[in-house]
Amino acid sequence: MTISNQSLKIAVLPGDGIGKEVMPACMEVLAAAVSSVGAAPMAFEVHNAGAQYYAETGEALPTATLDACKSSDAILFGAMGWPDIRFPDGTEIIPQLDLRMELGLFAGVRPIRWFPGLPRVLTDPRAEGIDFVLIREQTEGLFYARGRGEIINDAEAYDTMQITRTGTERVTEFAFQLAAQRKRRGKAGTVTCVDKANVFSSMAFFRKVFDEVAARHPTLQKDHAYVDALALTMVKKPWTLDVLVTENMFGDILSDLAAGLIGGMGMAPSADIGEKYGLFQPAHGTAPDIAGKGFANPCAMILSGAMMLDWLAARDGDEKLADAARMIEGAVEHTLSTKLAVPMEYGGTANCTEMTRSVISSLSAVRKEVA
Ligand code: ATP
Repeated sequence: MTISNQSLKIAVLPGDGIGKEVMPACMEVLAAAVSSVGAAPMAFEVHNAGAQYYAETGEALPTATLDACKSSDAILFGAMGWPDIRFPDGTEIIPQLDLRMELGLFAGVRPIRWFPGLPRVLTDPRAEGIDFVLIREQTEGLFYARGRGEIINDAEAYDTMQITRTGTERVTEFAFQLAAQRKRRGKAGTVTCVDKANVFSSMAFFRKVFDEVAARHPTLQKDHAYVDALALTMVKKPWTLDVLVTENMFGDILSDLAAGLIGGMGMAPSADIGEKYGLFQPAHGTAPDIAGKGFANPCAMILSGAMMLDWLAARDGDEKLADAARMIEGAVEHTLSTKLAVPMEYGGTANCTEMTRSVISSLSAVRKEVA
C-alpha cells in the first residue's frame, strides 16, 4: 500500500499526434487537484513509445518503457499510431494492444456521460440523463486473431475468435462489481451482456458464463442484448443503460458509437484495468486531422486522469485521491456548464490550452462549493 504524502510514480506515455497535446493538460490538472486536496503528489515520468518513436528507432514499445510501466503505481497513456507509419507487413503501430496483453489489462472501462453545457446530439431531453459504462473485454475475443489471421491462396481468409471461461468470468465479475458501486450511488445496478449468442457458439458460451457469474450477485439485475439490438437501443434510448459487458471487437465498435452520443471523442475517457496494473487513456486516437494545431479537446484525457485517481484511491484506501478525482470531474463540469470555455470540438473557440486553463481555474470554484 502506498502511504499518503509519499509520491505516486506515474508512467506517462504521451505517444503520437494529439496524445502529445492532451497529456501535458492532464498532468497539469492532476498536479493542481492533488495539491489542492493535500493528497500524495504525483511523480510523472515520461517514456517513449509509439509510431513516431518507431520511425526514429525501429522500436514501437521499448522494453525500458514496458518495465517502467510495470514498476509504476499507474500508467497515463495519450494516443499512439500514425497513418503513414507502419510495420513492414503494412499493419499499424498499436502498442496499446501489446500493453493490454503484456499487463493483462482485461477490462476496458468506458464511461459515457452527458455533461451539462454540451450540445445534445439526441433531441430527446432524456438524453441529458445518459450515464452508462461500457466494459470491453480486451485480452481475447476477435482480437485474439491479431497476428494469427490466415489468408489461404488469395481465396479465403480466417480470423479466429477466442472466448475463455477465465477471461469471461473475470470481466463479468468486474462488471458486476462496478454495477454494485454504481447502485450505491443510486444507479440501477443492472449489467447487460452484449453478445450474438443466437448465432455463434463462442457468444453462447460467453452468455452462459455471464449467467453463472450473475447468479453470484442476487442483489443486482442481469439483462441480455444482441449486439445489433443494443446498437439500436444506444441510439434510441441510451438513458436506460447502466453497465454493459461485451467481447473485444463489439466493445471496440460500440465505444465509438457511445462517444458519438455525447458529441465527440474528446469527452470520452477510459481505463484499462487488470489484476495488478491500471492504464488510463482517452477513448480517442491520435486524430491526425487536427494534430499539431492545438485544437484537441483535453477533457477525455483529463477525465481519464480522474479515473486513475479513483483507481489509486481504491487500491490504497486513500480518500484524498478520490476527493481530487471528484474535484476534477466537477471542474470539467463547471467549465462546460458555465460556458467558461467551449471546446472547438463542440463549435466553441477554446483550444487545448484554453480548455486546460479553464479547468484549472474551475478547480478552485469547485473546491469552494465543496467546502
Ligand atoms: P484511431 O484509429 O486511433 O481511433 P482515428 O483517427 O480513427 O484514430 P480518432 O483519433 O479518435 O480516430 O479521431 C476520430 C475523430 O474525432 C477525428 O475527426 C478527430 O479529429 C476527432 N477527435 C478525436 N479526439 C478528439 C479530441 N480530443 N478533440 C477534438 N476532436 C477529437
